[in-house]
Amino acid sequence: MHNMAVVLPKKSVSELKGSLHGAVVMPGDKDYDTGRRVWNGMIDRHPSLIAYCVDSGDVITSVNFARDHGLLTAVRSGGHNVAGNAVCDDGIVIDLSKMKRVVVDAASRTARAQAGLIWGELDRATQAFGLATTGGIVSRTGIAGLTLGGGIGWLMRKFGVTCDNLLAANIVTADGRLLAASAEENQDLFWGLRGGGGNFGIVTEFEYRLHQVGPMLAGTIYYPAARAQEILQFYRDYVAAIPDELTTMFIYMASSQMPSLSKLPAGSPAAAIHVCYAGSAEAGEKVLEPLREAVPPLEDTIRIMPYVELQAMLDSGAPPHQHNFWKSSYLADLSDESIGVLTDYAHTMTSPLTQFHLQHLQGQVRRVGEDEMAFSHRDALCALNIVTKWLDPREAERHIRWTREFEAAMRPYSTGGVYVNFLGEEGEDRVKAAYGSAKYEKLLKLKNKYDPTNFFRLNQNIRPAGNRSF
Ligand SMILES: Cc1cc2nc3c(=O)[nH]c(=O)nc-3n(C[C@H](O)[C@H](O)[C@H](O)COP(=O)(O)OP(=O)(O)OC[C@H]3O[C@@H](n4cnc5c(N)ncnc54)[C@H](O)[C@@H]3O)c2cc1C
Repeated sequence: MHNMAVVLPKKSVSELKGSLHGAVVMPGDKDYDTGRRVWNGMIDRHPSLIAYCVDSGDVITSVNFARDHGLLTAVRSGGHNVAGNAVCDDGIVIDLSKMKRVVVDAASRTARAQAGLIWGELDRATQAFGLATTGGIVSRTGIAGLTLGGGIGWLMRKFGVTCDNLLAANIVTADGRLLAASAEENQDLFWGLRGGGGNFGIVTEFEYRLHQVGPMLAGTIYYPAARAQEILQFYRDYVAAIPDELTTMFIYMASSQMPSLSKLPAGSPAAAIHVCYAGSAEAGEKVLEPLREAVPPLEDTIRIMPYVELQAMLDSGAPPHQHNFWKSSYLADLSDESIGVLTDYAHTMTSPLTQFHLQHLQGQVRRVGEDEMAFSHRDALCALNIVTKWLDPREAERHIRWTREFEAAMRPYSTGGVYVNFLGEEGEDRVKAAYGSAKYEKLLKLKNKYDPTNFFRLNQNIRPAGNRSF
């Protein structure tokens, strides 16, 4: 997505620098090369400007500047999106990562959180009061992109996805206005923000509903990789009858990358189930018992841990700057045939860093009405995510080819839907698949109302009529 390089008058740039409270970083500045990086190491883009905003005023100033100068505009908060849309070539990156104020109101169990926070930061602030809301499973992921796409995580089966817990948001639109969106104000926009991603503007602040969340049972059970098929069949039957308190994720790793696993040599493949039980430890132990009996585990790390710790327990498996290519889809069930395909591809992974995940949904995720907000596909059983990673850029082709083949082989078993936040740059049809055609049409109407020129187009783009050329 290249724009024609725009030559910026020096005077305009110095005016921007003068009016912004945060810094402006440009090519040649010492912080430019670190500033243009995002989590996915495959993304290597060179923006003309990075505007570090420190308040809503800075966001308005940056939007007005970008619009008036016809700049391609990327919006970055946590920088974790695999598609890498948070950075662009030649245009401007409006960066919110310095905006980290959070105010917790323990009495009303709500938190107002600025968009630059990452989950680890928000969780620490809310946990000081024994509270939390559903967040992502890696603590360095940004709250902004995750919330706007939906937000699946450890507490979702009990408390819903993150956007189910969103009460309000402040957003800067393409015309430089700051709007409030909630059940009371700009309800249509509020509907779209809960799942519709960055299409409508730049959210500066979120208000979340919080829940009482104490230390809980969480961890991982590792099994022999050779028994993956059996474990998957067991997993299918097991999750059919678990309580909402228990959220689980099956993972197959080409290499366990865990030297501490006593019975598993470092670097050998492993199948594992991650768990989090958001209830009493006593009840949790009983519910988890079958996981220890079906196939003898190699290692069992489950113990009671503080929520902040469990939110970070998978961080080491997702370091920044590795090369990442993902393919994801929702599954309605786990048939023996689909399990056969999953295990075939598990055994042919081309990179030792590659994994696939099955994130089990249902519970409270499913109970919210499909039409209540843009977030979609609530009836899916689980989200399959093929997470292909490698270090040497020269290896890209073979890893990408393997991932595409795996995805194609799983297509017959997919619902056809996909979680928008796991999409790479996959084109308009996949964005439509993230919402279904009726919801996509509704999102298009909203886009026409709030961003008719498609100023915000570096995202999983809902393209307004008349902007087909982008
Ligand atoms: C290691 C890893 C783990 C993950 N785990 C989970 C998980 O457990 N659950 C889950 O649901 N997802 C998960 N994701 C996906 C995650 O939700 C998305 O990558 C999300 O976009 C990250 O948000 P961010 O703010 O870090 O993204 P960024 O890369 O900063 O932004 C991504 C996009 O979001 C939009 N955006 C960002 N900030 C704003 C803003 N303030 N206003 C408007 N639009 C904005 C823009 O379109 C931008 O291109 C994970 C991703 C990674 C890499």
